[in-house]
Amino acid sequence: MATIYRQYRPQRFAEVVGQPHVTKTLEEAIVKGRIAHAYLFQGPRGTGKTSTARILAKRLLCEQSKAAEACGQCASCQATEAGKNIDILEIDAASNRGIDNIRSLRESTTLSASMGKYKIYIIDEVHMLSHDAFPALLKTLEEPASHVIFILATTELHKVPQTILSRCQVYRFRRATPEEMRGRLTYILSQEKREAQRDVLDFIINRSDGCYRDAESLLGQLLSLKAKTLTASLITESLGLPSPKMVLNFLAALAARDGKSALEIVDTIYSQGFDVDQFIQESMRGARDLLVAKAKGDRNVAEFMQGSGASVALTAAVRALVQATADLAFVPQPFIALEIAVLSICMVPAASPSAPAQTISSAPGAKVNPQPAMSSGVALSSSKPAATPAQTGSDAPPEAGVVSVDTVRAVWGELISTIKQNNPVASTFLRAVEPIEVNGNVIVVKVSYPLHLTFFEKPDQKTAVEGALSQLLSTPVALKCKMDQSLLNKMAQASRPAAQGSGQDDSLYQSVKEVFGT
Ligand SMILES: [Zn+2]
Repeated sequence: MATIYRQYRPQRFAEVVGQPHVTKTLEEAIVKGRIAHAYLFQGPRGTGKTSTARILAKRLLCEQSKAAEACGQCASCQATEAGKNIDILEIDAASNRGIDNIRSLRESTTLSASMGKYKIYIIDEVHMLSHDAFPALLKTLEEPASHVIFILATTELHKVPQTILSRCQVYRFRRATPEEMRGRLTYILSQEKREAQRDVLDFIINRSDGCYRDAESLLGQLLSLKAKTLTASLITESLGLPSPKMVLNFLAALAARDGKSALEIVDTIYSQGFDVDQFIQESMRGARDLLVAKAKGDRNVAEFMQGSGASVALTAAVRALVQATADLAFVPQPFIALEIAVLSICMVPAASPSAPAQTISSAPGAKVNPQPAMSSGVALSSSKPAATPAQTGSDAPPEAGVVSVDTVRAVWGELISTIKQNNPVASTFLRAVEPIEVNGNVIVVKVSYPLHLTFFEKPDQKTAVEGALSQLLSTPVALKCKMDQSLLNKMAQASRPAAQGSGQDDSLYQSVKEVFGT
């Protein structure tokens, strides 16, 4: 059942959905006997390029048909449908990109077809060929043997040299519209004698972004469940995806810069074991949809978007989430990247206007500048609680701790729960730091982000944490943060080559591309 995409892969031109401008033209040309030596199918992934290439190949090799469609009965058609026609060679240029691959392909074109009248080469992702492989391919296209036909496919037309393009008949495949996709999914459901709630189809349509393959794979996963009717809760349970409602609530909180509610949702994501990366992607997609709907004056846009600041907050949210995607590679726990994003949207502007230099910028492509001044231990604040005459100078000699660091670690979870009752934001920060040593009555914690440092530098936050910790340990203690430079260094290093090279941060670019499909 999970192979719905294969099962419903079109076998005839008439079954190709959403591309009538391509199939009609091909069908007419076939009937008139006007066969080209090279075709190029271009368009987004999962829109039927490879399927159409195979249908075309099948028809061209069909031994009986005089019509536009292949007969589907002859030996050649049957071999093609079984993927065993030796006159059709499918090559994935992504894994055969070198000049040697193309040379051996060229040599093989000199051999005549085994069964039919043509030898057909389907080259998928042709833009992936290496620079020296293109001229070799061009040579083959320039001097075509009469029995050889090329069907090239690409998702990135701009990377295919003009010289190749000019030798091909180019066909453009387009993304499915939401209504076309709904029609396709409804058709498959009826064939499978199953039903789905409307919001399930909305969800699939939204996620697949006009890509039939993604939509059908997703539907296939849901259909593999026993439920007769597919419901939104199945999405959450079976696919491990956060429900659309959860994502919407999260975005509503961000739009209102309501950090408390947003962090509660992050907490749920964490405790219920959802994939953080997935949640970030869903949120970016959702935010983008809301912003576009609002910009287009869509009256059905969520109510929370009506407020004047909502668009600004959500735009900041998309940027912060793009940054969070990049941060995922560096943070010890994925949820920290998400929390940082939330905090940078909701907390920073209001909470610490005086410390902009130490907050992490959430602008896309922003580079993190490690601050040398923070590489050594940084005393948190000068206002020490009266009960804790702690030494906070970084050059103070190490002292035996009043408790062991293991004891501190043992109560850390309890500290987080205690603090969380009154201050969920502080508990979020505590979860992201780690006690590493105890000097006298000073508990030293390792901090990986300047933002965290900024937060604990606030006397009221610091006092509250120290108070709770002192109670748990039954002895007065003070807190000191030590900036762990390694994380920032890693992030800075990762962004450096991009700045010198193409000027585009690859991971960032990939995220934006995934979200907006540009
Ligand atoms: Zn046939």
